[in-house]
Amino acid sequence: MVKNYDEKKFITLSFALFFLVMMTALFNFISFTLPSQGEAFRMVFYGLGFTGIFIISLISNFTVGDLKKENNQLRRLQDFDFLTGCPNWIKFKRDCEKIFVTNQTQHYAMIIFDIDKFKAINDLYGHQVGNEILTAIAEILEKQLKEDELFARMATDNFSILMKYEGYGEFSQRVENLIREINGYSQKFIVNISVGIYLIGPDEVDINTLSDRANMAKRSIKDNSQVSYAFYDESMRQVMILENEIENRMEMALRNDEFEVYLQPKYLFSDEQIIGAEALVRWNDPERGMLPPNDFIPLFEKNGFVKKIDTYMFEEVCKLLEKWQKEMDQFTNMIISVNFSRLHLENMLLPEELLAITSRYHIDPKMIEIELTEGTIFDNDVQMVDIMNHLKDFGFHISIDDFGRAYSSLNTLKNLPADILKLDKAFFSESTDNVRGRKIITSMLNMAKDLDLITVAEGVETQEQVDFLKEKGCDIAQGFFYAKPMNVVEFEEFVNKKLKST
Ligand code: C2E
Ligand code: CA
Ligand code: CA
Repeated sequence: MVKNYDEKKFITLSFALFFLVMMTALFNFISFTLPSQGEAFRMVFYGLGFTGIFIISLISNFTVGDLKKENNQLRRLQDFDFLTGCPNWIKFKRDCEKIFVTNQTQHYAMIIFDIDKFKAINDLYGHQVGNEILTAIAEILEKQLKEDELFARMATDNFSILMKYEGYGEFSQRVENLIREINGYSQKFIVNISVGIYLIGPDEVDINTLSDRANMAKRSIKDNSQVSYAFYDESMRQVMILENEIENRMEMALRNDEFEVYLQPKYLFSDEQIIGAEALVRWNDPERGMLPPNDFIPLFEKNGFVKKIDTYMFEEVCKLLEKWQKEMDQFTNMIISVNFSRLHLENMLLPEELLAITSRYHIDPKMIEIELTEGTIFDNDVQMVDIMNHLKDFGFHISIDDFGRAYSSLNTLKNLPADILKLDKAFFSESTDNVRGRKIITSMLNMAKDLDLITVAEGVETQEQVDFLKEKGCDIAQGFFYAKPMNVVEFEEFVNKKLKST
């Protein structure tokens, strides 16, 4: 913009100068060609000429003044955030570079933070409240930062800070004070920020790299609400590299059939017969070997790829059921459960899409159970309940997975069209050892019975647990005590062997 402004000013002034020279030449020429009235003409033309120049310079002054004003406004827009008035990322980067040149002996830290669940705050209380919070944060930062320290709002609720680093103790204290002040800003709304910190080494001046690292540190605490700030360390970069590799490979891996169905048998407590299995995904990576879902499902949940994996698993299960129907009579009553991520519950067409797959393989939906994780289900989410109802109408079984891990709202269950309740394995194995835990499990089983829900205990590992659950009326068991997840061929052999022995 500066260049543009100077250009205009230069053009205006050059034009005025050119006009002055031309007028002077013209007047002299006329006064010499008209000698008799020369003096009078000369006076009139000089008068007109100077008036002209005066007007031009006035106009040019106005133009330059306007341009200057416009330019200042543009500069503000370019460098400052329209909402909070604080510097924006562009200015922050430029100022950081200047500081690195002038303060070479000073140690600095790059800090990035954002507000946890800021979208929910906006949705719940309105954008006005969201804006007030952002403005208050900018004011706090302005007040707290020292000379030669910088901050900016980078985007929505993302802020960056360049803070002096004089030593761990003092620095952490300052960061904690800052967090406390921001988190305590409002009595009405819960504001929590997550802060990532990168301690800048000597000669590290690429601002994008510095902020990327602070960002990685920030992301490392996103799922851990106990902690509000974290320092970057090299392992975070390794995780990032690994995640990038996985993301580059996942589509290809799906096309190459590297994802495989594993089955973990489920047993009826009453007669210890296998009544079905849960399908669990494994990634058979040619380079890294067999990967468990915890190594990639959380990442796929973040990037949305889990939807493709779940649908793939569902289709593979349908294929398998069709094969059993055609070739293996002893498997025709097996009900197989498939895990579905919460991301599917935004898709109103899910029931139709799944039904289309079952028809393609001539499978009755009642042979399939859809496992939805408890933490993702809320009874007041009309669309979600709609989808579940629809699935049930088509004949699919629906189970609530990991029950007891998240909110465990018993009320929620009452309003959900589910038919099966899977008690969370962690909850179960930790609780069965003490009296209180046993009481909780007992009351959960009783409540499930009242609601006509079939109960499945996951993660059953010991004979005591089996005895206890049997006594309390749990219907189905799944766990290492009976069998670990296995591939399809192993599963078929396992079931055949069991059938022969009975
Ligand atoms: P989940 O749905 O709760 O699956 C049960 C997990 O518990 C399985 O781990 C299983 O191997 C493990 N497990 C079973 N019995 C026992 C036991 O007695 N003791 C212990 N300690 N663990 C037991 P896995 O296969 O590693 O799966 C982990 C999680 O990954 C699953 O938890 C599920 O949330 C997710 N997952 C697996 N496959 C899929 C999939 O196809 N789609 C989606 N969206 N998620 C999947
Ligand atoms: Ca499951
Ligand atoms: Ca589970």
